[in-house]
Amino acid sequence: MQVPFHKPYVTDDEIGAVVEAIRSGWLTMGPRTVEFEKRFRGYIFDGSGGFAVAVASGTAALHLALRAAGIKAGDEVIIPTNTFTATGEVVTYFGAKPVLCDVERDTHNIDVSKVESLITEKTRAIVPVHFAGQPCDMDEITQLAGKYGLVVVEDAAHALPAWYRGEKIGTIGDATCFSFYATKTLCTGEGGMVTTKNDNWARKIKVLRLHGISRDAWDRYTLRGSWYYEVVESGYKYNMTDIQAAMGLVQLGKLEWMWERRRSIAQRYTQAFEAEEAIISPVVRPDRESAWHLYVIKLRLEVLRINREGFIEELKKRGVGTSVHFIPLHRHPYYRDTLGCSSSDFPEAEWVYERCVSLPIYPGMKEEELDYVIGVVLDVCKSYKR
Ligand SMILES: *Cc1c(COP(=O)(O)O)cnc(C)c1O
Repeated sequence: MQVPFHKPYVTDDEIGAVVEAIRSGWLTMGPRTVEFEKRFRGYIFDGSGGFAVAVASGTAALHLALRAAGIKAGDEVIIPTNTFTATGEVVTYFGAKPVLCDVERDTHNIDVSKVESLITEKTRAIVPVHFAGQPCDMDEITQLAGKYGLVVVEDAAHALPAWYRGEKIGTIGDATCFSFYATKTLCTGEGGMVTTKNDNWARKIKVLRLHGISRDAWDRYTLRGSWYYEVVESGYKYNMTDIQAAMGLVQLGKLEWMWERRRSIAQRYTQAFEAEEAIISPVVRPDRESAWHLYVIKLRLEVLRINREGFIEELKKRGVGTSVHFIPLHRHPYYRDTLGCSSSDFPEAEWVYERCVSLPIYPGMKEEELDYVIGVVLDVCKSYKR
């Protein structure tokens, strides 16, 4: 059997909606994007205020949120080292400096106890990443941000839907950035969304996503029927298209069902690996709910005769696709060279990196595929026991 690491859960519903969008004649940002924003906003804020602005990608969402926050050259932004490069690269767009923070060994989330010592008079923002979909320690982060006058922009690329102490992710920080990349829990191929309770930020992000023009193309061509517009900012071409939004609307309609599927796959894995001493299953704190974008195990290397690379090879030989989340930023030449950091600065992230393997978890995964992955993982552990 072959079980790929990921398969997007896309059915005839999405295909039909996309075809309909194309047939409608409105291909770029238009009525479907407006509707997607409205429904996403309703889902996140549950009808009580807030804004949602659709953009071209999760990276664009992060970039625009930091721009709304007024990040400028010379500023410092604290981010975890265990993330995708998008979280760091957007900081460098401003000529600002990403300041890497170590993570917690069990959750792989930013270690808040190490954040305060990284704050300087140049620090402007903290960008927590909700790793695998599990929310970070948002109360502690919000408290630190308040104490030092920092903004909190959440990288929620993995965290749709997720809850922290009963609050949905998307409603807590100054802005929250979601990704609808092909592998994420809601996918539009490429796409992203910023949610915020700050109407000035929402308005600013809407202007910036389309060339700094004071009105969206949709407004310009149809609602007001006017050829006139003004450029009020140096903006970007970061808008979503109606083709993406059509897919997003269908995906949003089945988001909670897809989440239930992920959650039950995670439960099955955790149960199956409970008695296996070579595997450390992911830990979710009792006061939060994970989106389960990823299911990341860690290997107890001291009881195995192979390392993580060997383990992944063995799984691959048996037809099971896996991945590694993430190669920490401090290990990449760009960050290592520009920030002058070394692996010894991030002992916990290093510990995690040497041991972690991401297993397949997606709503379309069949029972026999799940059973097969479990069987293969346990078999490889048994075959390579010390
Ligand atoms: C996927 C991802 C992003 C970027 O999202 P895109 O939509 O691909 O631009 C940012 N941060 C993290 C942690 C991600 O996994």
